[in-house]
Amino acid sequence: MINLILFGPPGSGKGTQAANLVQHYNLYHISTGDMFRSEIGNKTELGLLAKSYMDKGELVPDEVTVNMLRKRVEDNPQVKGFIFDGFPRTVAQAQALDAMLEDMGQPITALLELKVPAEELIVRLMNRAKTSGRADDADANVIKNRIQVYRENTAPVAEYYDQKDKTKAVHGVGEVAQITQNLIDALDAAIAESNAA
Ligand code: ADP
Repeated sequence: MINLILFGPPGSGKGTQAANLVQHYNLYHISTGDMFRSEIGNKTELGLLAKSYMDKGELVPDEVTVNMLRKRVEDNPQVKGFIFDGFPRTVAQAQALDAMLEDMGQPITALLELKVPAEELIVRLMNRAKTSGRADDADANVIKNRIQVYRENTAPVAEYYDQKDKTKAVHGVGEVAQITQNLIDALDAAIAESNAA
């Protein structure tokens, strides 16, 4: 089983790259952001709650997020592995994920961190706003807050997995196909390392 955390700031290309990696490795893609947007679309109680945080660029509380994620993992016992996209976003979420995967005997294979400069992120998100219809892309202050939250709460997740020798940085600027290849090279190296261990 391959369990990949696709990591990086808002606008770093996680969603685009996850779709390409799903094809290459035949993994099951879980995006907590997409799951929340689907709940919002269906006007569920969970969606209403999530929206109140997302519209401000804040994180949805860990307990709510972890319970939703756990259910999605448990509902898919037959898959070859998962790509976690936009999760974990706090160290507490990372610890919950590790505990969950330990119960299944299937640890995280690697955390791949897409490296993109902050100025480029803002340009990309403002451009995405023109077509995404996402309220959190349309407002420069909300974008700035998301990047700030990433620095404060989410970046420590990369350090957490670095201490377990699982974090690999990947250059995230340039052609989409080239970045996909960078990710594949990094993940193949991590798979080889975990097989050797
Ligand atoms: P992006 O990476 O571009 O910010 P996402 O779709 O991953 O887009 O996330 C959008 C929003 O959804 C976040 O700003 C946050 O409010 C909420 N969200 C998504 N995943 C999580 C998570 N793991 N924990 C808490 N909130 C989350």
